[in-house]
Amino acid sequence: MTRQHSNLILIGIITAIVLAAVSLAIFGQKMIAVKFLGDFFLQALRMIVVPLVVLSVTVGITRMGDIRKVGKVGMRTLGYYAMTTALSVCLGIILVSLIAPGVGISIEGVETPAKVVDKLDKGWTDIALSFVNPNIINALAEGDMLPIIVFCLIFGGILTTMGAAGKPLINIIEILNTAIMKFVHLIMWIAPIGIFGLVASRFAEAGTAEELRQTLMGLAKYMGTVLLGLGIHGFLILPLLFWLFTKNNPFKHLLHMSPALLTAWSTASSSATLPLTLDCAQNNARIRPRVAGFVLPIGATINMDGTALYEAVAAIFIAQAFGYELAFTQLLLIFITATLVSIGAAGIPEAGLFMMVIVLAAVGLPPEGIGLILAVDWLLDRFRTAVNVWGDSVGAAVIDNSVGPDDAGEVPEPLPA
Ligand code: ASP
Repeated sequence: MTRQHSNLILIGIITAIVLAAVSLAIFGQKMIAVKFLGDFFLQALRMIVVPLVVLSVTVGITRMGDIRKVGKVGMRTLGYYAMTTALSVCLGIILVSLIAPGVGISIEGVETPAKVVDKLDKGWTDIALSFVNPNIINALAEGDMLPIIVFCLIFGGILTTMGAAGKPLINIIEILNTAIMKFVHLIMWIAPIGIFGLVASRFAEAGTAEELRQTLMGLAKYMGTVLLGLGIHGFLILPLLFWLFTKNNPFKHLLHMSPALLTAWSTASSSATLPLTLDCAQNNARIRPRVAGFVLPIGATINMDGTALYEAVAAIFIAQAFGYELAFTQLLLIFITATLVSIGAAGIPEAGLFMMVIVLAAVGLPPEGIGLILAVDWLLDRFRTAVNVWGDSVGAAVIDNSVGPDDAGEVPEPLPA
């Protein structure tokens, strides 16, 4: 996809969001009727995301050529992602402690939401177990990304050690990967229509404008804290890191990634957004495909800065509402579990809400607290997902910049004029 095409799609997406707002103002809840447009787009993305992850991770590994180089780039990727996640959790803890949005919130009649009840027995060991799946076919069928990535990392790594014998299969995987990226380009053309359907129908489902306003007002301070944290992390910390590591303009990178970021906001799923993230990173931001193909699928699955920040803010908000004084060791536990659950959370809508039970259980907070934040979670989810994807793309640029041509192959060919 050329940059002109990408710009056209970006304009289309922005127009779609404006049109969704206008039609909501005119038609209100009738806009639920356009939900199928959003579902069509989402399902098209989900249709290609598993083959895309399998191919791009395997190609990323095999193109690095040597398993030691993979190790070096891999360690840098994990180290960078761990650092930014830790920074965002710290920021969340500081903000929620200073603003104290939970103090004075009524907890009367609060109940554990039905949708998290069956998650109550989950613990942090489940996060460790989520890296493997006893049945890889099942993992592929269910889009269970972590085991798929682990499998492809190892499989691709083994192929690189097989010399000439592995070459025919590597060539086939390369061809398939090129074809699936062309498939991504086709799906990107329907992004504006899909995003119109997703945004208009979801806001229509939230009730009348007055109902939505009342829900938001009740939790304004909590939402404000999460959004402030996401804003500082997304517009200050990540751009600063981008500039420090690459010496390039972070806001230009933001513009390059904006079709993916707006899709993340509209779908609330970093996994469904991955096709666009990869495309924007490779074609607009000119990140080498072998780095992007390796770093971004891993990022979409384990690097969730926005989710990590939200977990910490929400858990401490719940503690404040229930009148619990958190000791330093409990804050430390929240720091650790918020980081871990952001790694274990799937890149799907509201995954962070389900993982909240683990953070709350770790510090002995009541799961009913989730009932306090449920009403606005679908909205906050969009913003944290956009930050998750933005964090992945900054990571890909940083890693791309930090590895020489020997580690990551040639610079991509210039775009056709
Ligand atoms: N929806 C988020 C994502 O896909 C995960 C979350 O719920 O925080 O990145």
